[in-house]
Amino acid sequence: MTYPDTRLFIDDDWRDAEDGRRIDVHNPATGEVIGGVAHASRRDLDAAADSVRRGFEVWRDYTPAQRAAIMHRAAALVRERVDEIAGLMTREQGKPLVEAKGEILAGMDIIDWFADEGLRVYGRTVPHRADPSIRQLVVKDPVGPVAAFTPWNFPINQVVRKLGACLATGCSMVVKAPEETPASPAALVRAFQDAGLPAGVLALVYGDPAEISEYLIAHPAIRKITFTGSTAVGKQLAELAGRQMKRVSMELGGHAPVIVCEDADVELAVKTMAKAKFRNAGQVCISPTRFLVHESVRPDFAKALAESATGVTVGDGLAEGTEMGPLANSRRLDAMASLHDDAVGRGAAALAGGERIGDAGNFWAPTVLDEVPSDARLFNEEPFGPIAAIRGFTDLDEAITEANRLSYGLAGYAFTRSLAAADTLTRKVEVGMLWVNMPAMPSAELPFGGVKDSGYGSEGGPEAMEAYLNTRSVSIAH
Ligand code: NAD
Repeated sequence: MTYPDTRLFIDDDWRDAEDGRRIDVHNPATGEVIGGVAHASRRDLDAAADSVRRGFEVWRDYTPAQRAAIMHRAAALVRERVDEIAGLMTREQGKPLVEAKGEILAGMDIIDWFADEGLRVYGRTVPHRADPSIRQLVVKDPVGPVAAFTPWNFPINQVVRKLGACLATGCSMVVKAPEETPASPAALVRAFQDAGLPAGVLALVYGDPAEISEYLIAHPAIRKITFTGSTAVGKQLAELAGRQMKRVSMELGGHAPVIVCEDADVELAVKTMAKAKFRNAGQVCISPTRFLVHESVRPDFAKALAESATGVTVGDGLAEGTEMGPLANSRRLDAMASLHDDAVGRGAAALAGGERIGDAGNFWAPTVLDEVPSDARLFNEEPFGPIAAIRGFTDLDEAITEANRLSYGLAGYAFTRSLAAADTLTRKVEVGMLWVNMPAMPSAELPFGGVKDSGYGSEGGPEAMEAYLNTRSVSIAH
């Protein structure tokens, strides 16, 4: 199977950058250059912004049912092409084929859900206080053309989370998708083109992320910004959007606590969390990262988690039986080495992994560290890789204080058989999404998003639709 060169998509047309610039794309399993992606110039960005401005005028007048029909058709086309698209994703991002396929199919469920949710965007009428002949209406309108910035860890799903609500509400979108993993999001966009999405409703660009965001956020055609990525970049983009008084949704970093209580089903906790920890090589914003384990069960938990880590089959995502692929880029490899060495230098016990595998590709061994001091960088900075850090606690309040100590507040996990403990955790753990006695299951109908420095806005449920709507009131006397 060949890996394509990815082009820009502007005004229903696939094109090279106007000045011919392109960026190399690498396979993270081998380090080899496998293709390239067009690097948009200012003129290309102007053309993209202008096209989504025009596309919005057309799409806003489609009925929700007409929009839903196109969205369902696009999802069906992606499902038909899933094997081919998964192959592209594994080659450019590294995740095992089965995970790539899972991401794509889950993404199409999200598109289908939003397509139908678009049928349920209602306004309301509100009786006037004094005059029954006055009609007071609450109306919902699409916010306008959107600029979306999506990362490389879920090349399709991160676009889908934004595009679903955007298209269902009648907005248009220019997506700056990741330069490191360009071909799979392009395949998603092609399915929408093939499904009959009108020209200009969707544009796709790549290039220099900082240059593109600065330019598009300030562009008069753009009415809303949505970004998924690190908290540091999110804050910069929110500041740029604030200067223009533009709507913003921010899906940022996390450092998910996992609280394993004294009365937990430890076997369930290990089984569930080992799978979650090493999925996509830990490059997941809701990945479990800070394991806070009651001292009475910590030794058993740590030993079993380390055994699971050692048993993970690491290799090229294209190879049969691979359970964990390489890290998506060499930056993550450097980050793993430095976080690991810092923790061990401060006294953490290395139970599994802790080193790069081989010298070709970005492979890092699944790693478990116990007794990690709370001042270790690993317990403070989002690791975004296959490293589990464990600390003990003796009192639930102590675990909750530690869980809430960081400015992150995206996902959290807990294992307990006590309803009272589950209730206390529900009320006190400061995260946007909490899963108790189970793995993360962020389905389309549930809100998806964080609190504190993990961002604001939601990319799931009816709340995600609101993020793309203006709510206005109109009063009519006659
Ligand atoms: P990074 O912060 O440089 O980039 C993260 C993402 O933001 C990338 O997709 C990048 O293209 C984009 N980006 C960077 N600067 C930008 C700008 N000025 N304007 C618009 N987009 C910009 O880091 P990285 O090395 O690519 O990734 C590592 C870190 O990013 C991780 O530690 C993690 O915190 C974060 N990250 C988070 C998610 C998530 O799902 N929330 C996904 C990918 C990366």
